[in-house]
Amino acid sequence: MAVKRPELGEYSGTRAAVNGRHVRAVSEQLARDYNYLFRLAEDDTRLLQKHHALLVTATAGFAEKFYDYLFDNPDIADVLYAYERAGGDVGMYARSELQHLVNAICPTGLRERVAQLLEAGRQHQERCIRPAWLIGAYELFIDYLHHRLPALIPLHAERMALESLLVRILLHDLGLTLEGYWSNASDELRRELAHESGCHARTEELLAGIPYYLWSVDVGTNTIRYASFPLRMLYAQDMDCPFPCLSDTHAEDGARLLSAWQDAVNGMACQIEARMTLADAAEHWYRVALYPDNDSLGRPAVVHCVLEEFDRQIAERRHLQQLATTDALTGLPNRALWNDHLNLALAASRRVPGSQFVVISLDINQFKMYNDTLGRDVGDILLKDISERLSSIVRESDSLSRLGGDQFGIMLQPVHHINEATERVIAKILDCFDLPFTYRDKQLWVSLTLGIACFPGDGDSEETLLHNAESAMQRAKRNGLPYQYFDPANDVSAVQQLRYSGQIKSAIDNNEFTLHYQPLVELQTASVVGAEALLRWEHPLEGMVMPQRIIPVAEQLGMITSITDWVLVTALRQCRSWQQEGLAIPVSINVSARSFQNPRLLDKITWALREAGVEGDCLEIEITEATLMQDIERATEVLERLNDAGVTIAIDDFGTGYSSLSYLKALPIDTLKIDQSFIQDIAFDRQDIAIVRTIIDLGHNLGFKVVAEGVENVRAWNLLTSLGCDVAQGFHISQPVAGTRFSALLAHGGRLPL
Ligand code: C2E
Ligand code: MG
Ligand code: MG
Repeated sequence: MAVKRPELGEYSGTRAAVNGRHVRAVSEQLARDYNYLFRLAEDDTRLLQKHHALLVTATAGFAEKFYDYLFDNPDIADVLYAYERAGGDVGMYARSELQHLVNAICPTGLRERVAQLLEAGRQHQERCIRPAWLIGAYELFIDYLHHRLPALIPLHAERMALESLLVRILLHDLGLTLEGYWSNASDELRRELAHESGCHARTEELLAGIPYYLWSVDVGTNTIRYASFPLRMLYAQDMDCPFPCLSDTHAEDGARLLSAWQDAVNGMACQIEARMTLADAAEHWYRVALYPDNDSLGRPAVVHCVLEEFDRQIAERRHLQQLATTDALTGLPNRALWNDHLNLALAASRRVPGSQFVVISLDINQFKMYNDTLGRDVGDILLKDISERLSSIVRESDSLSRLGGDQFGIMLQPVHHINEATERVIAKILDCFDLPFTYRDKQLWVSLTLGIACFPGDGDSEETLLHNAESAMQRAKRNGLPYQYFDPANDVSAVQQLRYSGQIKSAIDNNEFTLHYQPLVELQTASVVGAEALLRWEHPLEGMVMPQRIIPVAEQLGMITSITDWVLVTALRQCRSWQQEGLAIPVSINVSARSFQNPRLLDKITWALREAGVEGDCLEIEITEATLMQDIERATEVLERLNDAGVTIAIDDFGTGYSSLSYLKALPIDTLKIDQSFIQDIAFDRQDIAIVRTIIDLGHNLGFKVVAEGVENVRAWNLLTSLGCDVAQGFHISQPVAGTRFSALLAHGGRLPL
């Protein structure tokens, strides 16, 4: 310890005042008590005065002993050194202690010393001088005097009287010092208690002000140990139940609450949300948080409970959920919620054997046009109006959603007669679009295309069903029809789409595509007047894949243009090759809507004709009515330029779509190809005969050549000849065959042995 033992010096005395009237009154009472107990009187003062000089001599040398007492006792020394480290003067302090003892036996002012002694006691307590050390110092002083006095006062009686007085005085002093010590310690305790209870009050006030109900439950006794003011107010009578709000909890949430409580009692913190009717008699959502607190052995001793009203958060959460699941423009469920509805329907249907439901994919045909020409604001209004019209038709138990852009989804769950019910709804939907929408005195005509898939026949997952409904819708669009049911023979299933998506590109590179040619034969002469090029895919694993499976996938994947380019070049080269064999047979190629709309189509055709070294009249382009009607202005321009190049145009699958005859009349079209669906049964179906006859007459009146597709037998051949049809194509004449086999077919100078 670096602190030096202090030098002896004069004691300047501490005259710290103990303030306050109350303190004074206590001091006076103590003075009276102590004087009474120790019987200190004027005689005693006189006795001290008489022996004063002698006593001064007696105390000489005590300083040395006192200092040994202080600094040889490690605990006392530690306190003194700590005092020094805190900036105090330990020498001065030790001297004041010494003077305090010596002053006790001074003859003057015995009574006045009361306040001084109390103050000294207070300081001792504050400086952590323990009472035992103080008593020890007094004992040391008495002992010292006891040994010194016989030499100074030989007279026994006189010495005994003085010694007795000194003991009384010193005990009187010691007592009062300890009184000061005690009073300060109890003041401090009171202050601490007051502070603590102030804190407690403030904490209570704070807790009462926050909108939580708080309480702690002793797990051992299952009783409430603490409850915040609002909870006490609410359940003054029910505080013997560890979870007082249980009786006011919604019946549906009670079981969850009890199970959470059990978890908490077992030491697991948990949170649940429950509806309760508490303060205002209205039901609110509350978040109940339960935090177990363990004892020293790690066992749950207390469960702290926090109950917070949660209505706003629940409302916000619902709002967010609504935003996440609702289409902001139309207010209809969005794709995410549609998926949920579909999954729910799937789960429910799987549980009940034999149950079915229907998924409809619905597309607005003219939306892009209105959106592009009238602006997005009008587009938005139109979408809202359309969704309102659709909502008025679809029952609430069915689900109508906006799946994005101008695509809607409808899920129907008819209980009985699913086919009839579906047809009814479809008819209603189409009917309600017979009336135009109105925007600023403008009438906007809107038509729809629908694709339909049924669970379980057309798929047993949400993606497959929607994909298949979309495929059917695409086919309906391609064919210009208002709606189509999914048909695995004509639509690409989701699985196939996935399988083929990566393979089409490599199929072109690996020469896996090939063309088969089907002859077009003049009915009157039986001579071959053309050949339709039909795509085939010699798939390395699946064998021959037909175009109905390839074209829709290629269209959806944006790869149709590459296929069309390849077909164009290959077919024209074949034509050139036949020419070299002496056969002048033009080729027809099929051009899908997307390829037809490609702005580079004309350039490509011109280039391919030149590359093959054949004239424009060697090529016929087949397009469907739907392709033609999608953008009639552009189609007109393309057809005119093709016509200028000598290329002829055929309308394929005529009779299945909607096309306006006035348009057909105005366009440079050469050929109408009557769809095979009218031809295949023509020999047996009078209605078909009537239709075909009308088309033939109509075509001729408009100056078109008429081709019948799907001629499968001689009766059809004969009938068509009698109806005046110009050209026939079909299995009765020939299947589509490879290019090399085609020349063999024509061995008879271009006439077939029919
Ligand atoms: P399409 O242009 O109407 O072609 C006629 C289809 O009818 C061919 O089917 C042909 O094999 C079939 N067919 C011909 N005669 C008969 C018959 O007597 N009875 C029956 N039941 N069917 C007959 P294919 O080759 O399967 O082609 C189907 C469709 O795929 C074509 O119909 C055409 O729309 C499309 N397609 C074919 N090749 C291409 C192509 O290179 N590009 C594009 N975009 N589409 C193509
Ligand atoms: Mg065709
Ligand atoms: Mg056709």
